[in-house]
Amino acid sequence: MHDPAGTQLSLVRQLKFCAGHRLYRHESKCAFFHGHNYRVDIEVVAAGGGSEVDSVGRIVDFSLIKQRMLAWLDAHWDHAFLIFEADTNALAAIRMVEPTKYFVMPYNPTAENMARYLLEVVAPGVLSDLGVLARRVAVWETDESCAVATLTGDVDGMRQPLASAVLIDHREGDQRP
Ligand SMILES: [Zn+2]
Repeated sequence: MHDPAGTQLSLVRQLKFCAGHRLYRHESKCAFFHGHNYRVDIEVVAAGGGSEVDSVGRIVDFSLIKQRMLAWLDAHWDHAFLIFEADTNALAAIRMVEPTKYFVMPYNPTAENMARYLLEVVAPGVLSDLGVLARRVAVWETDESCAVATLTGDVDGMRQPLASAVLIDHREGDQRP
C-alpha cells in the first residue's frame, strides 16, 4: 500500500537466555570458558515494508515472535556452550563432559557474531512464513554492552542452513533444566 507519509512501522521483542562461550584467540580473560545472561532485542518489519498492518492493526502479534524465536533459542543456545568451529581445543573439552549441550558457530561467538547469526540465519528460518522479517538484532552481553546487526541487503541472498545444538544426555527421565 502506498504510504504518502513514508512511515516505517516495526516492533521490537525482548528475549532472554543464558549460555556459555569463550572467544577463540582473545588476548585477555574472554579466552576462558565463562557465561552470560544474554538479552536479545529483535526488531521486525512487515515483509512488504512501510506501514502495512493486518486487520487488527498489527505487523504481527508479539506472541508469535516470542514463540518462534524463544523456541529456537531454548532448543539450541539456552544452557549450551557456543563454540567456534575452528576452536578444536574447546570442542574436544566440551565433548568430554556428559550430559553436554553445545552449538558450533561458523565464526567466533562474540555478541556481534551472535547478533549476525540470529539476523541472517535464525530469524529468516523461523519467521519467514509469518510475512515478516527481522531488520535488526541487538545482543546484550551485559547491562551496559550490546552488539547490533542490521539488515542492509536482500535476505534471500544470504539464506544459510540453520544448524542444531549437539545434545548428549543419557540420564534417565526428564531432568533437563
Ligand atoms: Zn563472554
